[in-house]
Amino acid sequence: MVHIVGAGPGDPDLITVKGLRLLKEADVVIYAGSLVNEDILNFCRADAEIYNSAQMMLEEIMHVITLAERAGKTTVRLHTGDPSIYGAVQEQMDVMTERGIEFDVTPGVSSFLAAAASLKQEYTIPGITQTVIITRRGGRTPVPDTESLKKLAQHQTTLCIFLSINLLDEIKRELMSAGFKSSTPVAVVYKASWPGEEKVIKGRLDTIVKQVQEANIDRTALIIIGHCLNSENRPKSNLYSPKFSHMFRQAKF
Ligand code: SAH
Repeated sequence: MVHIVGAGPGDPDLITVKGLRLLKEADVVIYAGSLVNEDILNFCRADAEIYNSAQMMLEEIMHVITLAERAGKTTVRLHTGDPSIYGAVQEQMDVMTERGIEFDVTPGVSSFLAAAASLKQEYTIPGITQTVIITRRGGRTPVPDTESLKKLAQHQTTLCIFLSINLLDEIKRELMSAGFKSSTPVAVVYKASWPGEEKVIKGRLDTIVKQVQEANIDRTALIIIGHCLNSENRPKSNLYSPKFSHMFRQAKF
């Protein structure tokens, strides 16, 4: 049996209770070494076989899994954050399905959620935006033209941009040409939740590139853009308003 598990964003305490139990029991662990905090491997059994997938190709990963299956072992495939977001996990699941290998998936806390926690920020502020777009800039992995930042930005939602901190200058120019003002608030969170390593930078579209350069951030960072970050004149939600009734509470006025 193979368990695909989201390790969470970096803080080892942010793996789920279920993910932790599976990790503690596993005979074989294959972890995404480029981003998973290796401290989380302290939870593994002393005799677990541990592989770092950063140095492996798809077929090698599948080979380790296939051998473990033949030996009746349990494998945990440990992904960073949540496996469903830029996890390159679909191709692994497809091969397992083809080969008749039984697997399940345990979700994890994605880094964009850890970034909101670090920023003490809600992404969906009533009256401002009710939509969060998760995206990236095209690099070696292309992004379809229909999803260009310029097009996505027109909706003026909260944008969480992954895998793109090295393209921040380009992102800034594209967003401005899509109608975001130079004063639009932007936050960059480096290594969200990693104990002792996290950096949080808050700025505006016209200041953020310099701020990020000065902080020497060139990887493992998320870019959050949108009016939700603007702390002035925020409307309040209906949910806790005294004028609003819902299934669990009557209006007071
Ligand atoms: N599946 C992961 C994302 C993997 S893609 C998740 O759900 O978070 C790798 C990218 O995720 C990085 O380039 C960076 O943009 C982002 N990332 C991953 N961990 C991060 C963290 N702790 N803090 C900030 N960004 C992070």
